[in-house]
Amino acid sequence: MTKTNSYWDASVEALSRSELDALQLERLKQTVQHASLSPFYKKKLGDVSEHLSSLQSVSDIRKLPFTTKADLRNEYPYGFLSVSKDELVRLHVSSGTTGQATAIFYTRADLETWADLLARCMYMAGARPGDTFQNLTGYGLFTGGLGFHYGAERLGMLTIPAGAGNSKRQIQLMKDFSTSVIHIIPSYALLLMPIMTEMGIDPRRDLSLRLAFVGAEPYSEEVRRRIEDFYGIRVFNSYGLSELNGPGVAFECPEQTGMHVWEDAYLVEIIDPRTLEPVPDGVYGELVLTSIKREGMPIIRYRTKDLTRIIPGDCPCGRVHRRLDRMQGRSDDMFIIKGVNIFPVQVEQVLMNISEVGNNYVIVLREENSIDTMIVRVEVNDRIFVEDMRQLQRIQKKIAHELRGELLVTPMVELVEPNSLPKSEGKAIRLIDERKK
Ligand code: AMP
Ligand code: ZN
Repeated sequence: MTKTNSYWDASVEALSRSELDALQLERLKQTVQHASLSPFYKKKLGDVSEHLSSLQSVSDIRKLPFTTKADLRNEYPYGFLSVSKDELVRLHVSSGTTGQATAIFYTRADLETWADLLARCMYMAGARPGDTFQNLTGYGLFTGGLGFHYGAERLGMLTIPAGAGNSKRQIQLMKDFSTSVIHIIPSYALLLMPIMTEMGIDPRRDLSLRLAFVGAEPYSEEVRRRIEDFYGIRVFNSYGLSELNGPGVAFECPEQTGMHVWEDAYLVEIIDPRTLEPVPDGVYGELVLTSIKREGMPIIRYRTKDLTRIIPGDCPCGRVHRRLDRMQGRSDDMFIIKGVNIFPVQVEQVLMNISEVGNNYVIVLREENSIDTMIVRVEVNDRIFVEDMRQLQRIQKKIAHELRGELLVTPMVELVEPNSLPKSEGKAIRLIDERKK
Protein backbone atom coordinates (compact mmCIF):
# COMPACT_ATOMS: atom_id res chain seq x y z
CA MET A 1 0.00 0.00 0.00
CA THR A 2 1.46 3.38 -0.89
CA LYS A 3 1.43 6.23 1.58
CA THR A 4 -1.17 8.28 -0.30
CA ASN A 5 -3.83 5.62 -0.43
CA SER A 6 -3.41 4.72 3.24
CA TYR A 7 -5.28 7.90 4.18
CA TRP A 8 -9.02 8.32 4.10
CA ASP A 9 -8.66 12.08 4.42
CA ALA A 10 -5.07 13.20 3.91
CA SER A 11 -6.09 16.84 4.46
CA VAL A 12 -6.30 16.11 8.19
CA GLU A 13 -4.56 12.78 8.71
CA ALA A 14 -1.30 13.89 7.10
CA LEU A 15 -1.00 17.30 8.74
CA SER A 16 2.25 18.30 10.43
CA ARG A 17 2.20 19.00 14.17
CA SER A 18 2.29 22.76 13.67
CA GLU A 19 -0.55 22.67 11.13
CA LEU A 20 -2.59 20.54 13.49
CA ASP A 21 -1.88 22.90 16.41
CA ALA A 22 -3.06 25.87 14.36
CA LEU A 23 -6.22 24.06 13.30
CA GLN A 24 -6.92 23.05 16.89
CA LEU A 25 -6.53 26.57 18.23
CA GLU A 26 -8.87 27.95 15.62
CA ARG A 27 -11.47 25.25 16.29
CA LEU A 28 -11.11 25.59 20.04
CA LYS A 29 -11.93 29.29 19.82
CA GLN A 30 -14.92 28.59 17.59
CA THR A 31 -16.04 25.93 20.04
CA VAL A 32 -15.85 28.22 23.06
CA GLN A 33 -17.80 30.89 21.20
CA HIS A 34 -20.41 28.43 20.01
CA ALA A 35 -20.69 26.52 23.31
CA SER A 36 -21.49 29.76 25.12
CA LEU A 37 -24.86 29.70 23.34
CA SER A 38 -25.91 26.71 25.48
CA PRO A 39 -27.61 27.38 28.83
CA PHE A 40 -24.93 25.40 30.69
CA TYR A 41 -21.83 27.08 29.21
CA LYS A 42 -23.47 30.49 29.23
CA LYS A 43 -23.61 30.16 33.02
CA LYS A 44 -20.31 28.36 33.37
CA LEU A 45 -18.17 30.52 31.11
CA GLY A 46 -19.61 33.96 31.86
CA ASP A 47 -17.88 36.59 29.71
CA VAL A 48 -16.85 34.62 26.64
CA SER A 49 -14.70 37.39 25.12
CA GLU A 50 -12.38 37.18 28.10
CA HIS A 51 -11.95 33.44 27.55
CA LEU A 52 -11.32 33.93 23.87
CA SER A 53 -8.57 36.47 24.42
CA SER A 54 -6.89 34.17 26.95
CA LEU A 55 -6.59 31.38 24.36
CA GLN A 56 -3.19 32.07 22.76
CA SER A 57 -2.22 28.44 22.26
CA VAL A 58 -3.91 25.06 22.57
CA SER A 59 -2.39 24.50 26.01
CA ASP A 60 -4.34 27.53 27.27
CA ILE A 61 -7.30 25.17 27.31
CA ARG A 62 -6.23 24.60 30.92
CA LYS A 63 -7.72 27.99 31.76
CA LEU A 64 -11.19 26.67 30.92
CA PRO A 65 -13.34 24.80 33.44
CA PHE A 66 -13.89 21.03 33.38
CA THR A 67 -17.21 19.43 32.48
CA THR A 68 -18.33 16.30 34.33
CA LYS A 69 -20.90 13.56 33.97
CA ALA A 70 -22.75 15.19 36.89
CA ASP A 71 -23.05 18.40 34.82
CA LEU A 72 -24.56 16.42 31.96
CA ARG A 73 -27.02 14.78 34.33
CA ASN A 74 -27.98 18.01 36.04
CA GLU A 75 -28.61 19.68 32.71
CA TYR A 76 -30.68 16.77 31.37
CA PRO A 77 -32.15 16.97 28.82
CA TYR A 78 -31.42 20.21 26.95
CA GLY A 79 -28.93 22.25 29.00
CA PHE A 80 -25.96 21.55 26.71
CA LEU A 81 -27.71 22.40 23.44
CA SER A 82 -25.97 25.11 21.43
CA VAL A 83 -28.45 25.04 18.56
CA SER A 84 -32.22 25.24 18.43
CA LYS A 85 -34.10 21.97 18.81
CA ASP A 86 -35.34 21.98 15.26
CA GLU A 87 -31.78 21.66 13.98
CA LEU A 88 -31.42 18.29 15.71
CA VAL A 89 -31.81 15.05 13.80
CA ARG A 90 -30.67 12.34 16.26
CA LEU A 91 -30.76 11.56 19.94
CA HIS A 92 -28.74 8.90 21.75
CA VAL A 93 -28.81 8.15 25.43
CA SER A 94 -25.67 6.96 27.15
CA SER A 95 -25.82 3.49 28.62
CA GLY A 96 -25.97 4.77 32.16
CA THR A 97 -23.98 1.83 33.56
CA THR A 98 -22.81 4.07 36.39
CA GLY A 99 -25.94 6.10 37.13
CA GLN A 100 -28.67 8.12 35.46
CA ALA A 101 -28.48 8.28 31.69
CA THR A 102 -27.53 11.38 29.76
CA ALA A 103 -28.95 12.64 26.47
CA ILE A 104 -26.71 13.29 23.47
CA PHE A 105 -27.94 15.24 20.45
CA TYR A 106 -26.67 15.47 16.89
CA THR A 107 -27.35 17.90 14.07
CA ARG A 108 -27.10 16.74 10.48
CA ALA A 109 -23.57 18.13 10.31
CA ASP A 110 -22.66 16.21 13.48
CA LEU A 111 -23.82 12.95 11.93
CA GLU A 112 -21.75 13.71 8.83
CA THR A 113 -18.66 14.43 10.93
CA TRP A 114 -19.20 11.28 12.96
CA ALA A 115 -19.65 9.03 9.93
CA ASP A 116 -16.51 10.52 8.38
CA LEU A 117 -14.53 9.91 11.55
CA LEU A 118 -15.56 6.27 11.65
CA ALA A 119 -14.91 5.77 7.96
CA ARG A 120 -11.47 7.25 8.56
CA CYS A 121 -10.83 4.86 11.47
CA MET A 122 -11.82 1.78 9.52
CA TYR A 123 -9.97 2.83 6.39
CA MET A 124 -6.84 3.43 8.46
CA ALA A 125 -7.04 -0.13 9.78
CA GLY A 126 -7.34 -1.51 6.25
CA ALA A 127 -11.07 -1.79 5.49
CA ARG A 128 -11.93 -0.95 1.88
CA PRO A 129 -14.94 -0.68 -0.43
CA GLY A 130 -15.65 -4.23 -1.51
CA ASP A 131 -15.36 -5.55 2.04
CA THR A 132 -18.45 -6.98 3.72
CA PHE A 133 -18.89 -5.46 7.15
CA GLN A 134 -20.96 -7.16 9.83
CA ASN A 135 -21.88 -5.03 12.82
CA LEU A 136 -22.34 -7.35 15.81
CA THR A 137 -23.09 -4.68 18.40
CA GLY A 138 -26.42 -3.50 19.72
CA TYR A 139 -28.28 -0.95 17.62
CA GLY A 140 -30.59 1.54 19.28
CA LEU A 141 -29.51 3.90 21.99
CA PHE A 142 -25.98 2.47 22.21
CA THR A 143 -23.83 4.62 19.92
CA GLY A 144 -21.66 1.71 18.77
CA GLY A 145 -24.36 0.29 16.50
CA LEU A 146 -25.44 3.25 14.37
CA GLY A 147 -22.05 4.96 14.67
CA PHE A 148 -20.18 2.14 12.96
CA HIS A 149 -23.09 1.47 10.62
CA TYR A 150 -23.02 4.87 8.98
CA GLY A 151 -19.23 4.94 8.97
CA ALA A 152 -19.11 1.60 7.14
CA GLU A 153 -21.65 2.76 4.56
CA ARG A 154 -19.73 6.00 4.16
CA LEU A 155 -16.60 3.99 3.44
CA GLY A 156 -18.49 1.90 0.92
CA MET A 157 -18.56 -1.52 2.52
CA LEU A 158 -21.52 -3.86 2.12
CA THR A 159 -22.95 -3.38 5.59
CA ILE A 160 -24.89 -6.04 7.51
CA PRO A 161 -26.71 -4.49 10.50
CA ALA A 162 -26.75 -7.78 12.40
CA GLY A 163 -26.94 -6.31 15.89
CA ALA A 164 -25.89 -8.20 19.01
CA GLY A 165 -26.88 -11.74 19.89
CA ASN A 166 -28.56 -14.52 17.93
CA SER A 167 -25.14 -16.07 17.59
CA LYS A 168 -25.87 -18.95 15.25
CA ARG A 169 -27.48 -16.60 12.76
CA GLN A 170 -24.48 -14.27 13.04
CA ILE A 171 -22.15 -17.09 12.12
CA GLN A 172 -24.39 -18.17 9.26
CA LEU A 173 -24.43 -14.60 7.91
CA MET A 174 -20.65 -14.46 8.09
CA LYS A 175 -20.49 -17.63 6.07
CA ASP A 176 -23.19 -16.83 3.50
CA PHE A 177 -21.98 -13.31 2.71
CA SER A 178 -18.22 -13.82 3.17
CA THR A 179 -18.03 -11.21 5.92
CA SER A 180 -14.49 -9.83 5.97
CA VAL A 181 -14.72 -7.06 8.58
CA ILE A 182 -16.57 -7.07 11.89
CA HIS A 183 -17.29 -4.71 14.75
CA ILE A 184 -17.79 -6.55 18.02
CA ILE A 185 -17.28 -6.01 21.72
CA PRO A 186 -14.50 -8.15 23.22
CA SER A 187 -16.67 -10.20 25.58
CA TYR A 188 -18.98 -11.17 22.72
CA ALA A 189 -16.04 -12.09 20.48
CA LEU A 190 -14.96 -14.51 23.23
CA LEU A 191 -18.46 -15.91 23.68
CA LEU A 192 -18.87 -16.63 19.97
CA MET A 193 -15.83 -18.90 19.89
CA PRO A 194 -17.32 -22.02 21.52
CA ILE A 195 -20.51 -21.55 19.51
CA MET A 196 -18.52 -21.64 16.27
CA THR A 197 -16.69 -24.73 17.46
CA GLU A 198 -19.99 -26.38 18.37
CA MET A 199 -21.29 -25.61 14.86
CA GLY A 200 -18.21 -27.28 13.42
CA ILE A 201 -16.91 -23.98 12.03
CA ASP A 202 -13.25 -23.17 12.02
CA PRO A 203 -13.13 -19.46 11.15
CA ARG A 204 -9.67 -19.73 9.63
CA ARG A 205 -10.86 -22.42 7.24
CA ASP A 206 -14.54 -21.68 6.74
CA LEU A 207 -14.90 -17.89 6.97
CA SER A 208 -13.39 -14.91 5.16
CA LEU A 209 -12.79 -12.70 8.21
CA ARG A 210 -9.85 -10.32 7.95
CA LEU A 211 -10.29 -7.45 10.42
CA ALA A 212 -12.16 -6.84 13.66
CA PHE A 213 -12.81 -3.51 15.35
CA VAL A 214 -13.11 -4.24 19.03
CA GLY A 215 -13.94 -1.84 21.83
CA ALA A 216 -16.67 -0.32 24.02
CA GLU A 217 -15.26 -2.00 27.14
CA PRO A 218 -11.78 -2.55 28.57
CA TYR A 219 -9.92 -5.64 27.47
CA SER A 220 -6.38 -6.87 27.78
CA GLU A 221 -3.69 -7.52 25.20
CA GLU A 222 -4.14 -11.22 26.05
CA VAL A 223 -7.78 -11.09 24.95
CA ARG A 224 -6.76 -9.38 21.73
CA ARG A 225 -4.34 -12.25 21.11
CA ARG A 226 -6.98 -14.88 21.84
CA ILE A 227 -9.40 -13.27 19.40
CA GLU A 228 -6.73 -12.86 16.72
CA ASP A 229 -5.57 -16.46 17.09
CA PHE A 230 -8.98 -18.06 17.07
CA TYR A 231 -10.50 -16.10 14.19
CA GLY A 232 -7.27 -15.70 12.22
CA ILE A 233 -7.77 -11.93 11.96
CA ARG A 234 -6.24 -8.65 13.09
CA VAL A 235 -7.97 -6.88 15.97
CA PHE A 236 -7.96 -3.09 16.18
CA ASN A 237 -8.79 -1.32 19.39
CA SER A 238 -11.60 1.22 19.10
CA TYR A 239 -12.39 3.84 21.73
CA GLY A 240 -15.20 6.32 22.11
CA LEU A 241 -17.93 7.44 24.45
CA SER A 242 -21.44 8.71 23.89
CA GLU A 243 -20.74 12.08 25.45
CA LEU A 244 -18.26 12.77 22.62
CA ASN A 245 -20.43 11.29 19.78
CA GLY A 246 -19.62 7.62 20.44
CA PRO A 247 -16.97 5.44 18.77
CA GLY A 248 -14.52 7.18 16.44
CA VAL A 249 -12.66 9.22 19.06
CA ALA A 250 -9.50 7.09 18.98
CA PHE A 251 -8.54 4.05 16.92
CA GLU A 252 -5.56 1.89 16.18
CA CYS A 253 -3.62 2.13 12.93
CA PRO A 254 -1.92 -0.90 11.33
CA GLU A 255 1.03 -0.48 13.70
CA GLN A 256 -1.31 -1.51 16.58
CA THR A 257 0.70 0.51 19.07
CA GLY A 258 -1.97 2.63 20.69
CA MET A 259 -5.01 4.47 19.39
CA HIS A 260 -4.65 7.73 17.45
CA VAL A 261 -7.00 10.37 18.83
CA TRP A 262 -8.44 12.37 15.93
CA GLU A 263 -7.03 15.67 17.05
CA ASP A 264 -8.79 17.69 14.37
CA ALA A 265 -12.05 16.78 16.14
CA TYR A 266 -11.00 16.26 19.78
CA LEU A 267 -8.49 17.92 22.07
CA VAL A 268 -6.81 15.47 24.38
CA GLU A 269 -5.43 16.01 27.88
CA ILE A 270 -4.34 13.55 30.56
CA ILE A 271 -4.65 14.83 34.10
CA ASP A 272 -3.88 13.58 37.57
CA PRO A 273 -7.42 12.93 38.85
CA ARG A 274 -6.49 14.17 42.35
CA THR A 275 -4.61 17.38 41.59
CA LEU A 276 -6.33 17.97 38.21
CA GLU A 277 -2.94 19.02 36.86
CA PRO A 278 -1.64 17.68 33.52
CA VAL A 279 0.71 14.69 33.67
CA PRO A 280 3.65 14.25 31.28
CA ASP A 281 3.31 12.03 28.21
CA GLY A 282 3.82 8.40 29.17
CA VAL A 283 2.27 8.79 32.62
CA TYR A 284 -1.15 7.31 33.37
CA GLY A 285 -3.99 9.59 34.36
CA GLU A 286 -7.56 10.52 33.54
CA LEU A 287 -8.43 11.25 29.95
CA VAL A 288 -10.03 14.66 29.38
CA LEU A 289 -11.55 15.42 25.99
CA THR A 290 -12.89 18.53 24.27
CA SER A 291 -14.96 18.31 21.11
CA ILE A 292 -13.81 20.91 18.57
CA LYS A 293 -15.91 19.87 15.60
CA ARG A 294 -19.38 19.58 16.98
CA GLU A 295 -22.46 21.69 16.44
CA GLY A 296 -25.35 20.36 18.51
CA MET A 297 -23.67 19.98 21.88
CA PRO A 298 -20.04 20.99 22.15
CA ILE A 299 -18.36 19.71 25.30
CA ILE A 300 -15.33 21.36 26.87
CA ARG A 301 -12.77 19.47 28.95
CA TYR A 302 -14.92 16.45 29.65
CA ARG A 303 -13.59 14.29 32.47
CA THR A 304 -14.10 10.82 31.03
CA LYS A 305 -12.95 8.91 34.14
CA ASP A 306 -11.13 6.59 31.73
CA LEU A 307 -7.55 5.94 32.78
CA THR A 308 -4.86 5.80 30.13
CA ARG A 309 -1.69 7.55 29.00
CA ILE A 310 -0.32 9.23 25.92
CA ILE A 311 2.22 6.99 24.22
CA PRO A 312 5.34 9.11 23.82
CA GLY A 313 7.08 9.39 20.46
CA ASP A 314 6.05 9.25 16.83
CA CYS A 315 4.00 6.52 15.24
CA PRO A 316 5.75 4.82 12.32
CA CYS A 317 2.53 5.22 10.28
CA GLY A 318 3.33 8.91 9.90
CA ARG A 319 0.22 10.36 11.56
CA VAL A 320 1.01 12.99 14.18
CA HIS A 321 -2.35 12.57 15.95
CA ARG A 322 -1.28 11.43 19.40
CA ARG A 323 -1.80 7.87 20.60
CA LEU A 324 -3.63 6.64 23.68
CA ASP A 325 -2.62 3.42 25.35
CA ARG A 326 -5.13 0.67 26.05
CA MET A 327 -7.57 1.86 28.73
CA GLN A 328 -6.80 0.48 32.19
CA GLY A 329 -10.46 0.90 32.99
CA ARG A 330 -12.63 3.61 34.47
CA SER A 331 -11.68 5.06 37.80
CA ASP A 332 -15.12 3.78 38.97
CA ASP A 333 -14.13 0.18 38.10
CA MET A 334 -11.10 0.15 40.34
CA PHE A 335 -11.65 -1.80 43.54
CA ILE A 336 -9.63 -1.98 46.70
CA ILE A 337 -9.05 -5.26 48.42
CA LYS A 338 -6.77 -5.67 51.43
CA GLY A 339 -5.41 -2.21 50.71
CA VAL A 340 -4.46 -2.99 47.11
CA ASN A 341 -5.97 -1.09 44.17
CA ILE A 342 -6.99 -3.43 41.36
CA PHE A 343 -8.62 -3.05 37.94
CA PRO A 344 -10.64 -5.99 36.58
CA VAL A 345 -8.55 -5.94 33.42
CA GLN A 346 -5.43 -6.85 35.46
CA VAL A 347 -7.18 -10.01 36.55
CA GLU A 348 -8.18 -10.69 32.95
CA GLN A 349 -4.63 -10.25 31.75
CA VAL A 350 -3.42 -13.00 34.09
CA LEU A 351 -6.33 -15.37 33.41
CA MET A 352 -6.16 -15.15 29.64
CA ASN A 353 -2.48 -16.11 29.66
CA ILE A 354 -3.32 -19.43 31.28
CA SER A 355 -4.11 -22.01 28.64
CA GLU A 356 -6.55 -24.01 30.79
CA VAL A 357 -8.74 -20.94 31.29
CA GLY A 358 -11.80 -20.56 29.05
CA ASN A 359 -13.32 -17.34 27.77
CA ASN A 360 -15.44 -16.04 30.61
CA TYR A 361 -14.80 -14.98 34.19
CA VAL A 362 -16.27 -12.81 36.90
CA ILE A 363 -14.80 -11.27 40.03
CA VAL A 364 -16.93 -11.32 43.17
CA LEU A 365 -16.02 -9.27 46.23
CA ARG A 366 -17.50 -10.40 49.50
CA GLU A 367 -17.13 -9.63 53.15
CA GLU A 368 -16.81 -12.80 55.23
CA ASN A 369 -16.32 -12.49 59.00
CA SER A 370 -15.36 -8.85 58.53
CA ILE A 371 -12.65 -9.83 56.08
CA ASP A 372 -12.77 -8.79 52.45
CA THR A 373 -12.45 -11.71 50.08
CA MET A 374 -11.96 -11.72 46.37
CA ILE A 375 -13.43 -14.66 44.53
CA VAL A 376 -12.37 -15.18 40.94
CA ARG A 377 -14.85 -17.43 39.20
CA VAL A 378 -13.35 -18.81 36.03
CA GLU A 379 -14.64 -21.02 33.25
CA VAL A 380 -12.18 -23.72 32.30
CA ASN A 381 -11.81 -24.42 28.62
CA ASP A 382 -13.61 -27.30 26.97
CA ARG A 383 -10.49 -29.50 26.84
CA ILE A 384 -10.47 -29.85 30.62
CA PHE A 385 -12.27 -32.81 32.19
CA VAL A 386 -14.29 -31.26 34.96
CA GLU A 387 -14.56 -34.68 36.65
CA ASP A 388 -10.80 -34.87 37.17
CA MET A 389 -10.52 -33.37 40.65
CA ARG A 390 -6.74 -33.57 40.81
CA GLN A 391 -6.38 -31.74 37.56
CA LEU A 392 -8.86 -29.08 38.70
CA GLN A 393 -7.00 -28.55 41.94
CA ARG A 394 -3.77 -28.14 40.05
CA ILE A 395 -5.35 -25.52 37.75
CA GLN A 396 -6.94 -23.75 40.69
CA LYS A 397 -3.60 -23.50 42.46
CA LYS A 398 -1.87 -22.31 39.32
CA ILE A 399 -4.43 -19.52 38.76
CA ALA A 400 -4.26 -18.40 42.39
CA HIS A 401 -0.47 -18.38 42.24
CA GLU A 402 -0.33 -16.34 39.02
CA LEU A 403 -2.91 -13.86 40.31
CA ARG A 404 -1.01 -13.44 43.55
CA GLY A 405 2.16 -12.77 41.58
CA GLU A 406 0.49 -9.96 39.66
CA LEU A 407 -1.88 -8.47 42.24
CA LEU A 408 -0.16 -9.26 45.55
CA VAL A 409 -3.49 -10.49 46.88
CA THR A 410 -4.42 -14.17 47.01
CA PRO A 411 -7.92 -14.67 45.66
CA MET A 412 -10.21 -17.67 46.09
CA VAL A 413 -10.41 -19.33 42.71
CA GLU A 414 -13.58 -21.17 41.73
CA LEU A 415 -13.51 -23.19 38.55
CA VAL A 416 -16.74 -23.65 36.66
CA GLU A 417 -17.69 -25.51 33.48
CA PRO A 418 -17.36 -23.90 30.06
CA ASN A 419 -20.36 -21.71 29.12
CA SER A 420 -21.82 -21.75 32.62
CA LEU A 421 -21.28 -18.13 33.70
CA PRO A 422 -23.94 -15.55 32.81
CA LYS A 423 -23.49 -14.20 29.29
CA SER A 424 -24.24 -10.71 28.20
CA GLU A 425 -24.76 -9.46 24.67
CA GLY A 426 -23.85 -5.95 25.70
CA LYS A 427 -20.94 -4.85 27.84
CA ALA A 428 -19.86 -7.66 30.15
CA ILE A 429 -20.21 -7.38 33.92
CA ARG A 430 -16.80 -8.39 35.24
CA LEU A 431 -17.16 -7.26 38.83
CA ILE A 432 -19.81 -7.99 41.44
CA ASP A 433 -19.19 -6.19 44.70
CA GLU A 434 -21.34 -7.74 47.43
CA ARG A 435 -19.60 -5.92 50.26
CA LYS A 436 -21.55 -3.59 52.51
CA LYS A 437 -20.88 -0.06 51.43
P1 AMP B 1 -20.83 4.46 26.35
O1 AMP B 1 -20.82 5.93 26.22
O2 AMP B 1 -21.93 3.94 27.17
O3 AMP B 1 -20.75 3.77 25.02
O4 AMP B 1 -19.51 4.04 27.14
C1 AMP B 1 -18.27 4.65 26.89
C2 AMP B 1 -17.24 4.04 27.82
O5 AMP B 1 -16.91 2.72 27.40
C3 AMP B 1 -15.93 4.78 27.81
O6 AMP B 1 -15.97 5.92 28.64
C4 AMP B 1 -14.99 3.70 28.34
O7 AMP B 1 -15.10 3.58 29.73
C5 AMP B 1 -15.55 2.44 27.70
N1 AMP B 1 -14.81 2.13 26.47
C6 AMP B 1 -15.14 2.41 25.20
N2 AMP B 1 -14.22 1.95 24.34
C7 AMP B 1 -13.26 1.35 25.07
C8 AMP B 1 -12.03 0.67 24.77
N3 AMP B 1 -11.59 0.49 23.54
N4 AMP B 1 -11.30 0.22 25.82
C9 AMP B 1 -11.72 0.38 27.09
N5 AMP B 1 -12.87 0.98 27.43
C10 AMP B 1 -13.63 1.46 26.44
ZN1 ZN C 1 -0.10 5.11 13.57
